[in-house]
Amino acid sequence: MNVQYQQDYVPNTLNSMNMDRCSYLPCFPFVRSTNNATRSLLLANVPIVSLSIQDLYRRYALNQDGPFISSVMAHEIHSYFYNLSENYFQQFKERLKVNVAILDFNLYRFQKILERYQSLQHLFDSYLTLVNRNNENYEVKNLDFHELRIGLEFFLQIDVDVFYMKTCMFRGAMPQSFDEGLFCKADYPLIRYSFLPCCQPQCPLCQRSNVIASSSSSSSSSSSNTAPTSYVVEFNTYHSHRFQNGYTTILNCPATCQTKNIIYTVTCCCGNYEYIGSTSSNLSETIESIRETSNRFISETLLCASSSSSIHDIIVNNNQDDFVSLDVNEKFRLYQHFIHCPQAIQLFLHQNLQYHAIIPIIIEQALINDRNYSTETTIQLDNSMEIWFQHLPIPPNGYRFCKRQHQQQYKFFKSLEKKIETNQKLYTPVDIYHVSIIAVLPEQCSTLLRQVIACLFSTHAETKLNRFNLCMMNIEHRFGPPHHSLWCQNIVRPTDEQIENSIRTVVCQ
Ligand SMILES: [Zn+2]
Ligand SMILES: [Zn+2]
Repeated sequence: MNVQYQQDYVPNTLNSMNMDRCSYLPCFPFVRSTNNATRSLLLANVPIVSLSIQDLYRRYALNQDGPFISSVMAHEIHSYFYNLSENYFQQFKERLKVNVAILDFNLYRFQKILERYQSLQHLFDSYLTLVNRNNENYEVKNLDFHELRIGLEFFLQIDVDVFYMKTCMFRGAMPQSFDEGLFCKADYPLIRYSFLPCCQPQCPLCQRSNVIASSSSSSSSSSSNTAPTSYVVEFNTYHSHRFQNGYTTILNCPATCQTKNIIYTVTCCCGNYEYIGSTSSNLSETIESIRETSNRFISETLLCASSSSSIHDIIVNNNQDDFVSLDVNEKFRLYQHFIHCPQAIQLFLHQNLQYHAIIPIIIEQALINDRNYSTETTIQLDNSMEIWFQHLPIPPNGYRFCKRQHQQQYKFFKSLEKKIETNQKLYTPVDIYHVSIIAVLPEQCSTLLRQVIACLFSTHAETKLNRFNLCMMNIEHRFGPPHHSLWCQNIVRPTDEQIENSIRTVVCQ
């Protein structure tokens, strides 16, 4: 669908491939019968200097009141709907400094987005529920007027290139200037809020970033074997986030790792894949859960690679806890990416050297290794060992294991058995992503409102790891599978002594 909208400002993030995003952006009211060429985006976050005379005329001079609105607004007749809009939207309209036709028209668009979001969500959830339980009826939920107003305030400011909620007045936020209203005036959007550490002793995120900060300052001349320093989150910076497609979000409220009801984005350490999620909880807990699940999936995939235990099976078989499986289902493409991404696996291996025993190496290297490795001892496999060996990852074309690795594998699997016996974790979890908070919702808000706003963000930021967005029922059609490279490609391998030492340490623990 190639939709042309009429305006002189040229958006940075629109191209012939993603024009359908316009259907989910706020617009100036247009008559239904008009063709797309005469429709105009609202462009609330574009400053005056970047607008053409036409754009300015539309924003400031044109009377946007449609025929129905003008007759009702003229106080000439009694109107139930007029009272409704007075009660629920009068103050809002004054605060945003827009006429009621713009609110009315975009409220309709937002309502349609709510409906579309729910139908898509139902479609994707039923994929899971059909497998797990009998399907339930699907009922379209509505937001009350209070939440509709909040949703509309977000929607109007999720502009074509930038999310900038300059009118935000909840959770400690104040408008930059009281005479500005919805439309950006002369200035470019200002980044005014930062993401701060909560500094509570029990917060794992603050603890980890202290460790990272102190280790990176004390070991600037560290050896090449030190794990790369990865900042999971960036604290104390004025907060904005630029997505791969150029879409930019500016944080709308001050926030810490304990702020609840948030929308966040996860970028894989490879920098090529993004996901947008939302939670009623806080960023600290969310990161802990993603860390736990992603590391578990990497470990399980490496250890059971040739069995049938894909993530999907894990979801379906581990359905004792519905919340966990729904959450994993939601992040399905995110986790699929991690278990196939060589950079993510490399970070996992930096903390878990012993897993190098089961990472295939390129054939040429394996041949060289074998030539230099003379100690041939035959491995005696008992039943349990045989199962471990059966589930070794299958080396892709051009890759294999060397002889010394088979010896390491035997010791590695023995060490794992010991860990399982004593109920120890099989790996040390590590952060393989960067996380950024992109928006904060009011303290009290429904899951539906939070999720629909998050879906608007993933639609305009075109994140490849979300299950769907408003434009794309099938993300895979547009972006392909959630990974693109060979999982064991270019993995940097420590020395065999280091690998064997790490296996020994595990046994001694
Ligand atoms: Zn904290
Ligand atoms: Zn990646």
